[in-house]
Amino acid sequence: MARFGVQVTLVDGLDLKAWAQAINADTKLVFFESISNPTLEVIDIAAVAGLAHSVGALVVVDNVFSTPVYSKAIPLGADVVIYSATKHIDGQGRGLGGVILGSKEIIRSIVEPFMKHTGGAMSPFNAWMMVKSLETLDLRVRAQVATATELAGLLEYRGDLERVIYPGLPSHPQFALTQVQMGAGGTVLAIDIGSKERAFLMMNALEVILISNNLGDSKSIITHPTTTTHQRLPQDQKNLLGITPGLLRLSIGLESAKDLNFDLQTALDVALPQK
Ligand SMILES: *Cc1c(COP(=O)(O)O)cnc(C)c1O
Repeated sequence: MARFGVQVTLVDGLDLKAWAQAINADTKLVFFESISNPTLEVIDIAAVAGLAHSVGALVVVDNVFSTPVYSKAIPLGADVVIYSATKHIDGQGRGLGGVILGSKEIIRSIVEPFMKHTGGAMSPFNAWMMVKSLETLDLRVRAQVATATELAGLLEYRGDLERVIYPGLPSHPQFALTQVQMGAGGTVLAIDIGSKERAFLMMNALEVILISNNLGDSKSIITHPTTTTHQRLPQDQKNLLGITPGLLRLSIGLESAKDLNFDLQTALDVALPQK
């Protein structure tokens, strides 16, 4: 945003010292994903908000991976919370949309003029579809989280994956924070199986889980971030963020946990060396 006169400082979201160093009297706004995509680091909303508010900066949280169902972002100190409604809110891969939540003053003075002058308006049909989907959002997300939690445990139990990342697993570095901040680990998990070859072997062996780049959908979806969603990141940034060639992002849907586990275990047996 430099051409609009905005200076941006990037910080490691987990490093509260780095946040404290980066935030100064000129800071107008901080922005972060409450759970990062795709490596699922959980950022301490209350701690970052405390630092930002001490200099009067606005706190904007991309809360997609936390989902509206498990969000406590506003009570924890966020001023603006945004969701890609394309994800859990639609939940069925039908439309694109987004939500910006904030005080009436922020919406009226900042968001509304921007939307008016730039034309970012949702079509009535999409709006109707998203609003209908809110009727089942709570049920869908809770069921997806329950299955994701079960599958994360079963994947970790195998013992032959390089990494199993899920904020609802006690082995996750921010497990305790996740319990306070959300009370559950979300609908997305990530695994690292060591190489791009293995990742592709595994994806191609799946029969229930679809290869796609969406998430939060009622269909379970697998994504290979290095060659798709995060392809354009330079290699040094991929390294920094832990986006390795063997990393796979799994968005857990509404299929039976038993079927999904069978699909995952079978495909992993194809891709990994025999134990
Ligand atoms: C998908 C996604 C976005 C972008 O949303 P679109 O609906 O694709 O524009 C932003 N943040 C996160 C965390 C997402 O998963």
